[in-house]
Amino acid sequence: MRRIGIIGGTFNPIHNGHILLAIYCKEKLSLDRVIFIPTCTPPHKSDKDLVSEAHRLNMCNIAVREYEDFSVSDIEIQRKGKSYTYETLTSLKEIYPDDILYFITGADMFLSLDKWKNPEIIFEKAVIAAVPRNSSDYEQLNAYYQTTLKKLGAQADILDEPVLQVSSTFIRENICKYELIENMIDRNVYEYIVKNNLYRK
Ligand code: ATP
Ligand code: MG
Repeated sequence: MRRIGIIGGTFNPIHNGHILLAIYCKEKLSLDRVIFIPTCTPPHKSDKDLVSEAHRLNMCNIAVREYEDFSVSDIEIQRKGKSYTYETLTSLKEIYPDDILYFITGADMFLSLDKWKNPEIIFEKAVIAAVPRNSSDYEQLNAYYQTTLKKLGAQADILDEPVLQVSSTFIRENICKYELIENMIDRNVYEYIVKNNLYRK
């Protein structure tokens, strides 16, 4: 029985916060491996700044290549249409019936989980790991878990330290100012963005 972490996201683009999130959860939750799953069309986002699935998938593959226990799955992109986590976890549980799945979320994602489609199915298939995005998030995460998610059957591990304060939005907005983002993004991912002229306004 292995312990497999799953991180879903738009990864538009993938940044060091995502990688550190995986490293931190792998260590704290003794995960054997972590799978990054870029969404197809996310149900909650408009398409405005979203680059193609192929680009987002390529950038994820570039960012994880030096980490032996990390991989990228195109399961949501292959499925097409809106990506619902309950469907993804149902498929993964069929592929890995004997393993424990940990669905890893940053604070913002975690705090909306009760509004996702079929949350009970999500909670039946996976343990939820939540990681603060700011140092003030922890209390709120815990309160929300106790008052809301537990009633829906969720089992959650709430970790108490933020990893790195960065978002893809910040990277997209500052793509022309490399000195601002250089510690937040993999150098090869940055070069891919420049080469393909992504996120230029
Ligand atoms: P955007 O600004 O476009 O929303 P993002 O940085 O939030 O991008 P997503 O692809 O939306 O990245 O996030 C994927 C998952 O990673 C989510 O669960 C999100 O909460 C989490 N996450 C992203 N950045 C961080 C971070 N710096 N610390 C902790 N969790 C993070
Ligand atoms: Mg986000």
